[in-house]
Amino acid sequence: MTRPVSRHAVPVAQPGSASRLARPDRLLTATVIGGGLAGLAAAVVLAEQGVAVTVLEREPFLGGRAGAWTDQLKDGTPFEMERGFHAFFRQYYNLRQLIRRVDPELACLKPTDDYPILTPTGNESFAGLTHAPLVNVAKLTWRTETLGLRDLMKVNVPAALAMLRFDFTGTYAAFDQVTAGEYLDSLNFPAVARQRLLHVFAHSCFNPQADMSAADLLQMLHFYFTANHDGLVFDVANRPFGRAIFTPLGALLGRLGTTVRTGAVARALERRPDGRWSVDTGGETLTTDLVVLATDVPGVKAVVGASRGLDDAPWQERIRALRVTNAFAVWRLWLDRRVDTGRAGFAGTAGVGPLDNISVYENLEDESRDWAARTGGSVVELHAYALPAGTDQAGLKRQLLEGLNLLYPETRGASLIEERWLLRQDCPAFAPGSHALRPEVRTPFRGLALAGDFVRLPFPSALMERATAAGMLAANTLLGELGVAPEPLWSVAVRGPLASRKPVPRRSTP
Ligand SMILES: Cc1cc2nc3c(=O)[nH]c(=O)nc-3n(C[C@H](O)[C@H](O)[C@H](O)COP(=O)(O)OP(=O)(O)OC[C@H]3O[C@@H](n4cnc5c(N)ncnc54)[C@H](O)[C@@H]3O)c2cc1C
Repeated sequence: MTRPVSRHAVPVAQPGSASRLARPDRLLTATVIGGGLAGLAAAVVLAEQGVAVTVLEREPFLGGRAGAWTDQLKDGTPFEMERGFHAFFRQYYNLRQLIRRVDPELACLKPTDDYPILTPTGNESFAGLTHAPLVNVAKLTWRTETLGLRDLMKVNVPAALAMLRFDFTGTYAAFDQVTAGEYLDSLNFPAVARQRLLHVFAHSCFNPQADMSAADLLQMLHFYFTANHDGLVFDVANRPFGRAIFTPLGALLGRLGTTVRTGAVARALERRPDGRWSVDTGGETLTTDLVVLATDVPGVKAVVGASRGLDDAPWQERIRALRVTNAFAVWRLWLDRRVDTGRAGFAGTAGVGPLDNISVYENLEDESRDWAARTGGSVVELHAYALPAGTDQAGLKRQLLEGLNLLYPETRGASLIEERWLLRQDCPAFAPGSHALRPEVRTPFRGLALAGDFVRLPFPSALMERATAAGMLAANTLLGELGVAPEPLWSVAVRGPLASRKPVPRRSTP
């Protein structure tokens, strides 16, 4: 077996024997549509096996929702703006393997020592939870001030045990029709415990609790907490993502013979009579053996909707059923004064209206550290997820600033030297009842695979790690059809520590 990437990593795909692609008469070609993590992961694995890959990316930069683009402050200082702060959790085994290809020691990541949750009534910490899952649960329950003995006696034990009993079949059968909000209500946790311990899991995939599957919430809890021996404390990029990850990955692809075309939109696919594919890019048609469709949800719906020959009604139905969840906002502020020394680089927040987290960028990456040292100011970023439709942006900004001022009082009265505001709606919905129809990496069509953080995977995963794992699995799937051994893939334990062979009883929720 390939050497594990962490002593806690569980192999979920392993090569039987080392093999490279046998190319009988001509070079095999692949087109990867989408240059986010999913597309880049697929492209790297295919190119390493000797496939001639072309990546088509709509934006002028790589990285998609984790990407970065160049911008300039009013004083002429160049900087990289991103779609927002990203945490690199230590059980992101496949993402780490991807980054190691351009940064073997993961020098672009620096460890944090806490994952604090800040609220107006007190804080919580997810530090030090790197033990066996049951010990982690006991430790957190013991040390939090939000759960006393009386509270514990009122907890709905069968519902709470579902967090430790995750397994794909049982959990999705029992909980996919239930909303995350209903499930959290059913736990009977005191409001403050729910807010500090569970809100962050429910919100961190951008879905509102009232429109998110409880089974997907349980999958997140399992992946991040109850099955994760590598801890809830994460690493952060110590320089902007473009410089740290995506420019080097683009350069690696170049060395592997891949053509990376940014600003290139794929419009439609067509299956050719010879079994190959045509990719319409608006002005040009590419002919290719393999296709990985690794766009976001709006992209996959648009491409599949405009394509010809993808005649499989149940699969078309799966694609049509995909949708994005509510919008999110990212507000980066250049303040004229420093936040207090010792503020966390990243802190989750709860109980402060729409504010979900605060990042202090000079505590994270070099570019902001230089600016803060030069000006005596701070670069702070505020996020708000799962925004209700029609949110008033001016009102939202006011609430976010109030939240910042409440939790970091030293920012009261600070002037904004500069700001960048992003309001986007392109993260996947994990709505109740959506699991059965969620498309998988494998499609009914030979030579075509799907990838992205919206795809259903056979092992636990989420967000950036899900995108990367899906991309690698898409490459494995296409190469597997040609008899090539898979890229090794890793995850946390596929089942919870208390998972039973029988499905989780449905009556544990309202
Ligand atoms: C504000 C914010 C904070 C986040 N924080 C975290 C975090 O802390 N930790 C974490 O793990 N994850 C986080 N995420 C989630 C993470 O960014 C995503 O899960 C991940 O980047 C998704 O990658 P992807 O490749 O599946 O999709 P994307 O990154 O969306 O890539 C899809 C690409 O396809 C391109 N495309 C679309 N249509 C076409 C077309 N027709 N032709 C060509 N190209 C096309 C798009 O431009 C895009 O680049 C965060 C996301 C956001 C928005």
